[in-house]
Amino acid sequence: MKDCCPVCNSDKKKEIGLPKINLISKRFVDKEFKIVQCNNCELYYVSPKIDFNSSQWNQLYNSEYFSNQSNWLLEKRKKELAKRFDTARSLIENQNQKLKYLDVGAGEGKGLLEAHGRGWEATGIDIVDNRLQDAKLSEIKFIKSNLLECDLPENHFDFIYVDSVIEHVLNPFEYLSKIKKLLRKGGVIYIGVPNEDCLFNSVRKLVFVLTGKKNESEKLKPFDSPYHVIGFNDSSLKYFLDKIELRVLKKRNFGRKFDFLSYSPKSKSFWIGIFFLFPVEYIGQLIQRDIYFEAYLSWNN
Ligand SMILES: [Zn+2]
Repeated sequence: MKDCCPVCNSDKKKEIGLPKINLISKRFVDKEFKIVQCNNCELYYVSPKIDFNSSQWNQLYNSEYFSNQSNWLLEKRKKELAKRFDTARSLIENQNQKLKYLDVGAGEGKGLLEAHGRGWEATGIDIVDNRLQDAKLSEIKFIKSNLLECDLPENHFDFIYVDSVIEHVLNPFEYLSKIKKLLRKGGVIYIGVPNEDCLFNSVRKLVFVLTGKKNESEKLKPFDSPYHVIGFNDSSLKYFLDKIELRVLKKRNFGRKFDFLSYSPKSKSFWIGIFFLFPVEYIGQLIQRDIYFEAYLSWNN
């Protein structure tokens, strides 16, 4: 099988570096994988294409460790989520009807709860059911499946929320194309993805070079948490959305620079936050190379 870019199909690419491999993925990695960047659309991806089976992926994801978040951070995240829903609401045409909400990669189900709380019809889909007990209400529909294999109704949903999902899929073009088909004309898709060309990654690369790991890639992390298998910068994200013929209604480059405040001043994370992460992210924001992108999208016509 030819090893091409999963967005534009070009086989022209340059090597970025070698991925970090953790103890679990080490059991399945049986050839030399490299992080590469497509010369045509600038997408970052893994070459050759990763061929893990679903049981192997599950082992990787189940091993992922979620730390407990402080109440302050939980509250902050909840407000951010509500703000995104408000923004989406203001962009959706047909304001009067009960909205149909779809949460792709529903995770703990916080988006489902927010939608349900607004009186919307909420549906979630995910390959595993990690929903909090609160989000397991009978009025909330949940489908345990891969999005590409499910048979949700087309031209149906008013708001589709896709946060921190696309960087985990090997075939982003098919994936977002399918999401677009599920969207009703006049509806809105929210996507959130990391910016691989953020300043933080450049600083990480510098640290790798200084600590004798110059071959290690600072982009993506296919074989170590958080298991990102593709990645965008500003240009590749633009190319990707254009190719799927989605219209960008609103787009933003942003960071999470105050999150270190959720740690105790007694912890190492707090001080790393103040003296390292905060300054890097602050400058990153000033030069428009912050850590995440978010975009609100609609049908072109
Ligand atoms: Zn490409």
